[in-house]
Amino acid sequence: MKKVVIASNNSGKLKEFTHLFEPLEIQVFPQSVFNVAEVEEPFQTFVENALVKARHASKQTGLPALADDSGICVDVLNGRPGVYSARYAGEPKSDQRNNQLLIENLRTKQDRRAHYYCIIVLVRYADDPQPIITDGSWHGRIILEPKGTGGFGYDPYFYLPDLGKTAAELSIEDKNLISHRGKALMRLTRYISEEALGGFGKDSE
Ligand code: IMP
Repeated sequence: MKKVVIASNNSGKLKEFTHLFEPLEIQVFPQSVFNVAEVEEPFQTFVENALVKARHASKQTGLPALADDSGICVDVLNGRPGVYSARYAGEPKSDQRNNQLLIENLRTKQDRRAHYYCIIVLVRYADDPQPIITDGSWHGRIILEPKGTGGFGYDPYFYLPDLGKTAAELSIEDKNLISHRGKALMRLTRYISEEALGGFGKDSE
C-alpha cells in the first residue's frame, strides 16, 4: 500500500486526509511518526509556506507529502491577518487574543468583508517540479460580537450573510461542505480520482 506523510500533527486534519485517501488505498501518517520537526514558515504567501512544509516532510521521510496552509484575509486590512492568522497577536499563539486584535482593528471600519483561504499541496518527492495544488475560499464578514460555540479560531466572528449565522454556529459536517478547507479537499479528491496522480495511487512495482 502506498504511503503519504501529512506535514501536520493536527488530528482533525489527519482524519480528513485519511478519509480522502482511503478509497485509493493510500495510507496517511502524521509527520510526528517519522520524528519530522515543524519547519519555519517564513513566506508571505500561503502557497510558498505549504510548499516548504510538504517538501521538508518529503525530504525527511522519502515519502510523498501533503501540506496545507490556511488563514483569514480581511479586505480593508489588505489581506491581513493572512499568513499570520495563527499568530496575529504574537506568541504564544492564542485564538482569544487574535480575535481581540482583529476586532480592535475593525471597530471603526464599515467594510468588514473577509474570507478564509486554504491551500493544499501534494509533492510526490521532495524536489517534485510539478506539485499538485488545490485551494478554496469562503467569503463572509467579521462581526464585532461573537456568536456560536463551534469551530475554532476566528469562527465566532466570521458571519455568513446568506446563512444568517457565524461559522461557529454550523455543525462540523455543514462547515466542511462549504468551507475553504472543504473546497480545497474536494478539489484534491476530484483531481486525484480524475488523474489517478499518474499512477500515484497504484503500487509502481
Ligand atoms: P493552519 O493552516 O492550521 O496553520 O491555520 C492557520 C490559522 O488560520 C488558524 O490558527 C486559525 O487562526 C485560522 N484558521 C484557518 N482555518 C480556520 C477555520 O476554519 N476557522 C477558524 N480559523 C481558521
